[in-house]
Amino acid sequence: MDPFADTLRRLREAFSSGRTRPAEFRAAQLKALRRFLQENKQLLQEALVQDLHKSVFEADLSELILCQNEVDLALRNLPTWMKDEPVTKNLLMQLDSAFIRKEPFGLVLIIAPWNYPVNLTLVPLVGALAAGNCVVLKPSELSKGTEKVLAEVLPQYLDQSCFAVVLGGPQETRQLLEHKFDYIFFTGNPRVGRIVMAAAAKHLTPVTLELGGKNPCYVDDDCDPQTVANRVAWFRYFNSGQTCVAPDYVLCSPDTQERLLPALQSAITRFYGEDPQSSPSLGRIISEKHFQRLRGLLGCGRVAIGGQSDESERYIAPTVLVDVRETEPVMQEEIFGPILPIVNVRSLEEAIEFINRREKPLALYAFSNSNQVVTQMLDRTSSGIFGGNQGFLHLILPSLPLGGVGNSGMGRYHGKFSFDTFSHHRAVLLAPLGLEKLNELHYPPYTDLKQQM
Ligand code: NAD
Repeated sequence: MDPFADTLRRLREAFSSGRTRPAEFRAAQLKALRRFLQENKQLLQEALVQDLHKSVFEADLSELILCQNEVDLALRNLPTWMKDEPVTKNLLMQLDSAFIRKEPFGLVLIIAPWNYPVNLTLVPLVGALAAGNCVVLKPSELSKGTEKVLAEVLPQYLDQSCFAVVLGGPQETRQLLEHKFDYIFFTGNPRVGRIVMAAAAKHLTPVTLELGGKNPCYVDDDCDPQTVANRVAWFRYFNSGQTCVAPDYVLCSPDTQERLLPALQSAITRFYGEDPQSSPSLGRIISEKHFQRLRGLLGCGRVAIGGQSDESERYIAPTVLVDVRETEPVMQEEIFGPILPIVNVRSLEEAIEFINRREKPLALYAFSNSNQVVTQMLDRTSSGIFGGNQGFLHLILPSLPLGGVGNSGMGRYHGKFSFDTFSHHRAVLLAPLGLEKLNELHYPPYTDLKQQM
């Protein structure tokens, strides 16, 4: 018995009916999504506390306001985004009309992770709805509180003939992936990304893969340590380190490390107090399995700051590790928790070489007072996104796309990039039926005269 067959058939029929194509329908769905966000704000905030002990400030900034802004942007720009895009023509085609039409793919599947369970589910949804698709949403089974709100409340707002939430973990998702979709948008880890891409390949379904990895953060000797420590600590410990674009490790000289350590300690104390476990601003680890994985990583190198953990709350203290070896697990896998290893390099050159030896990261950060240093890092490395002296704020600028490269993913979204991602770019050339004489110039037989033209 296939639990998804009926739902998918219903959505396919709705798409074939052309229901989702008109701008008015798309706008109505986006407005309904906005109402969902407004009317269920508290419910979502509570779900995020339940799932991740997420503070209201972090929930608003990184989830709710971000989604709301994406909806508003799409609503404001929908008529422009939907317009056919004229392209330049050559001499032969002056009487023709050539343009790119953005048409919906059809039935799209969005598979989301648990770390920003509202944002990473609904921001892609904004793009998919704006582009006129029917959508199957698969939230993460680990963020149970949010999953419940998305499954039980969100469908009450959207047109249920065109939209469905399906639930399940790895097994159900693999079963779902056996079906043919017209587009798959996946956010998660690179291992599962490979599973999704292999399943999509069976149907030649295009994919966006928003994956993760280890994000380097280079700190130059000339930086003010406290400024860098504040910015790095905020972003590393935001959502208890469970952020795909957070700095995963710091690369700096031993001297800079000595200056950074007290500055990091001071930032942590200022942000979360003397006892971070009692701070309402610090999140918790999503699951027992991830907690145990992270606790294992605390044994790498030497704990310079933090290092405490409490299984009963899935609490891991904001931690800094030093003296870590490149071969230790903490430098092999994406950390995805409140642990920051510092790896020593002697120069910018060595840092660049270290980064380029590894998979292309989702995010790369460079801190320096010298534009030249930041530019060198930008010019000589590759990553999905790059931050010079700044981290998180990248994400709230919808004019910049979010997306990885190589092992950190493929494709991009946010703002208009989302609309374009979920639209097939159809190349259209419309010619008049008259002036057949002109066409005869390229019909066979290919006489010498024609070939000389
Ligand atoms: P995950 O890959 O374990 O899970 C993501 C989704 O895939 C979930 O809905 C889950 O149910 C499903 N899934 C899990 N295992 C599966 C399997 N074997 N077969 C089929 N489906 C499966 O990822 P996660 O733990 O939820 O999220 C953390 C990862 O996501 C990190 O690697 C992080 O860097 C990455 N991430 C990337 C971005 C980005 O924007 N690039 C954003 C957030 C998280």
